Amino acid sequence: MPTTLTPQPEIKAGHGLPVYAGNGKIYPKRMPGRFRRLKHWTASFWLLFFFGPYLQWEGHQAVLLDIPHRRFQFFDLTVMPEDIWLLTFVLLFLAMLLFVVTVVAGRAFCGYVCFQTVWTDLYTWIETLIEGPPRARQQLDRAPWGMHKLLTKSAKHLLWLLIAALTGVSFAAWFTDARQLWVDYFALDAHPAAWIILAMFTAGTYLFAGFMREQVCFWLCPYARIQGVMYGDQTILPTYNYLRGEPRQHRSTKQANQAGDCIDCGLCVAVCPTGIDIRDGQQIGCITCGLCIDACDHVMTRIDRPTGLIRYSSLASLASGNKGPSIPILRVTVSLAILASCLLIIILGINNIGDTNLNIYHYRQPLFITMSSGDIRNRYRIKIQNRSQVPAHYQILVSGLENARIMGQSNLAIAAETTRVADIFLELSKSQLPTGITPITFRLIRQGGAVIEYRSVFIGPDAAAPGGTS
Ligand code: SF4
Ligand code: SF4
Repeated sequence: MPTTLTPQPEIKAGHGLPVYAGNGKIYPKRMPGRFRRLKHWTASFWLLFFFGPYLQWEGHQAVLLDIPHRRFQFFDLTVMPEDIWLLTFVLLFLAMLLFVVTVVAGRAFCGYVCFQTVWTDLYTWIETLIEGPPRARQQLDRAPWGMHKLLTKSAKHLLWLLIAALTGVSFAAWFTDARQLWVDYFALDAHPAAWIILAMFTAGTYLFAGFMREQVCFWLCPYARIQGVMYGDQTILPTYNYLRGEPRQHRSTKQANQAGDCIDCGLCVAVCPTGIDIRDGQQIGCITCGLCIDACDHVMTRIDRPTGLIRYSSLASLASGNKGPSIPILRVTVSLAILASCLLIIILGINNIGDTNLNIYHYRQPLFITMSSGDIRNRYRIKIQNRSQVPAHYQILVSGLENARIMGQSNLAIAAETTRVADIFLELSKSQLPTGITPITFRLIRQGGAVIEYRSVFIGPDAAAPGGTS
């Protein structure tokens, strides 16, 4: 069912529910214009997807999502599974960003950035290049199979498949050595996961961008299903100014004093990638790409009428005759506050990710051991993670307990991006033992680098009579 917001023009008799063409193949026309240019700029963001994996940074791949070794490299920053909480805030940030964009500007993400619409646009550009404008494409589709049709269709599908395969390789390249991946593919020696990714992405891209196109936006995309609840009458969407456009009348029969500005040329429908008629009101099938605005502005300029018969506007603005946008202040302010908080937490989190992680666990079973000499011993499990890309030497010291001796491995050499787990012991003669639980601080000194402190306790018989052993 369509989601239309009142007020809206009357739907023409026999028009049915014009939300979405759905039944027939759509042959969108390509036209230049400011929103088409904007779409080119925003779509070029995806060049990063294709070329990003080959960026080098200080002798290594700048971005590497190394799942087998459970580490994600972003330039100098290494993110380990321990930092998964950061991902929570990144996802929350992205969700809130999507929410605020939808509240203000509807499906602007779909129209300008979404991979489905960007790839579909690329595929239709290739189609136009090879098969010609919409009418020629329709004629070719209807024509019987012959050499011309076979060659034309083959060329198009080959290019589509090439792009689909490049998409698959590019996706896989984020997860492994990107340059080696090409060698492995050509030598037929790639990891089975790389072949599966290539096969899935090639098939998916070819099917979704080549054949399903706008059907994905309407029927498969979960975002399309939920974005209706975020809309309000202040949401800025491509809107047909029915007050000015109606009654629409074809130019040949137009009577100047009765008709509105719409000359019913159908160009706004012809360019629409989802095949809808925006004159029937704001609709769920509209991906907010603005191409109908370009088309109508072109028509208005040609018939010497002011542009903006279709324009980005909210229903509230349109009904009140206000030409400027009206923003839902409360919703946007709350969303921006959440966005800013997430961003702050992410930045602080990244700043706190150092070269080394330290975790110390005081054994509870037993809490202490009384040695034959009468000394008291506590045992600790120590976990040191060298997150840097160079090997490092570490020394463990303890403070807070006079004359305590560290037994076990207090000097460790740890390879790059490796975690070491070791047990160490603290011993103290019983005569020097303070009463109660003694707070202590372990200090981990990285050679030529940072010092990390970790608070723990030393427990003797006075503090925990039932727990110890001898
Ligand atoms: S109605 Fe206009 S803005 Fe909406 S999808 Fe169609 S061309 Fe794009
Ligand atoms: S492009 Fe403009 S004038 Fe032509 S049908 Fe659409 S709204 Fe009317």
